[in-house]
This record gives sequence, C-alpha cells and structure tokens, in this order.
Amino acid sequence: MEKAHHNHDRKHDPVFYFIAVIAIIGVAASSYLAVARNDDKEKHLQDRNALLQQLNNTKSNLTVAEMNISELENELNDIKEELDDLADDYRDEKNRNEDFEDQIRSLSGTLGDLDKLSKIDKELLQKYSKVYFLNENYIPERLKQIDDKYILEGKNDQYFHANAINHLEDLLNAARRAGIDLKVVSAYRSFDEQVEVKGHHTQVYGEGANAFSADQGYSEHQLGTTVDLTVPAVGGTYESFAQTEAYEWLLDNAYKYGFILSYPEDNTFYIFEPWHWRFVGTDLARHLDRNNETFYTMEQRDIDEYLLELFD
Ligand SMILES: [Zn+2]
Repeated sequence: MEKAHHNHDRKHDPVFYFIAVIAIIGVAASSYLAVARNDDKEKHLQDRNALLQQLNNTKSNLTVAEMNISELENELNDIKEELDDLADDYRDEKNRNEDFEDQIRSLSGTLGDLDKLSKIDKELLQKYSKVYFLNENYIPERLKQIDDKYILEGKNDQYFHANAINHLEDLLNAARRAGIDLKVVSAYRSFDEQVEVKGHHTQVYGEGANAFSADQGYSEHQLGTTVDLTVPAVGGTYESFAQTEAYEWLLDNAYKYGFILSYPEDNTFYIFEPWHWRFVGTDLARHLDRNNETFYTMEQRDIDEYLLELFD
C-alpha cells in the first residue's frame, strides 16, 4: 500500500511535472521549429522561383528587344538604300538638267551668232575680181566722218564705215606712236564719185587709165572699209610710197588692226597698190599674216568663216 501510495505519490511529484512540461515544451518547440524551417524553405523556393520567373521574363523581353533592334537596323538599312537611290536619281536628274542647260546655252549661242552674222554685211569680205563687181547701187550701212587730223592737208572730208572707224583710228594712232605721220588721202567713195575719178583719169591718161583706176579697185572704196594712205612727204600722188618707211611699217603692223594690202607687189589680180589698204577684221588679217597668204588668193568660202568676227 505504501508502494502504491508511493507510486501514486510519484505521479504527483513536482519534478515529474517539471520534466513533463519541459518535454512537452521541447517537443512543441522542435515541432514549431521544424514547421518554421519548412515554411522558410517554402518561402525561399517561392522567392527563387519568382526570381527565376523574373529572369526568364527579362530574358524573353531582351530577346524581343534584340529582335526589334535588328528589325529596326534592317529598316534603317532599307531607308539608307532608298536615300542612296534617291541621291543617285537626284544626281542623274541634275546631270540631265545641266546637259539640257548646256544644250540651251549652245543653242542660244548659235542663235546669237546667227543673229550677229545676219547683221554683218557679207559684201565687206567679198572679193571683187575682174569678173565680180560690186553693185553700183551699193551703199554702206552707216558712215562716219574721219577726224580732220588724220586727213592729208588739202583733201576733202573723208568718211569710213562706222563699225570699223575705231580700227582705222587705232592703226593711225599706232603709226603716230611709231613716229610715222600716216595720212588718209581717200576713204569711202560712192559709185558716182568713182565714175568721176575714172573719167578724170581717162581724160588725163587716155586708155592707160584702166591700168590703175579700173572698177575693181574702186569697188573696195565703195564698201566704206578701204583707205588710200600716204605720208605728207610723198603726198597724194603716192609716187615712191612703196619706198617709204611708212609702207614698211604698214607691212609689219597693219594686220594687227585688221587691215590688209589688197593688191601686193607681183599679184595677178590688179596693179600693185602699196597705198590701198582694206579693213577685213583682225582675225582674218592675222591669219593672212601668219600664213603669208593674201586676201585675193584665199577661197571665198574660207574668207566667209571670218565674217562673224569682222568687227570684234
Ligand atoms: Zn584705193
């Protein structure tokens, strides 16, 4: 009985209770910890998955972005090519326009030349041979009086072609600068005046007058672009003019001012007239001088090439 009592007493022993409570607390705590650890693990897993998911999302977003970029690059390249094509087209178009402008320019140049040519009197570069005479009704377009200071003393007023008179003055002034007192004896002569002069020569010299006052020579005076020149020491008879320094100077320099000797020594077209100088333009005069050629031995069609630049 005591033993049972004793047993019964042990059950109510505070130490027993204390141990039991400790044990219970221990079990509960470890269970709680186990559960809590499990919860932590779960949470970590979830977090990890969420992160992975986020990473995957970011990755796929990146892939989409990369695809967009390469698409944009392609589009940009297409635009670049289109721009290059447009630039090429623009260049082509510009070249075409420039070609067209050149054509217009050269066409208007040609038209300008034709217009200029149509206004230049073709007779002024015409050869008057023994078979081709200037029409008796021919009158120069416009004449201008030659300044008295250039005229041989005792001679009448003289007239020259208005478009060529500056060339004549240049020639006379250049001679003066070279110390040569070149004077005009005779310039423009109308057909009637020529007939008169010829009549006078015929009266004085008889039939022999044809030798030096034939129509041909005077025809050139009717153009208004021809002068007979002399120096006071020789005068208006021109005797021995060929032996003067003035004649030598003219042979060396007249071409620079567009003047040529129509009938040089030993020509087969007319008698030698060292005083008789005709304006044919500086281009043609220079050509004749350079090639040691004479106006009357040149082909008319070759002479006509110089008509455009006659008064330049
Ligand atoms: Zn003459």
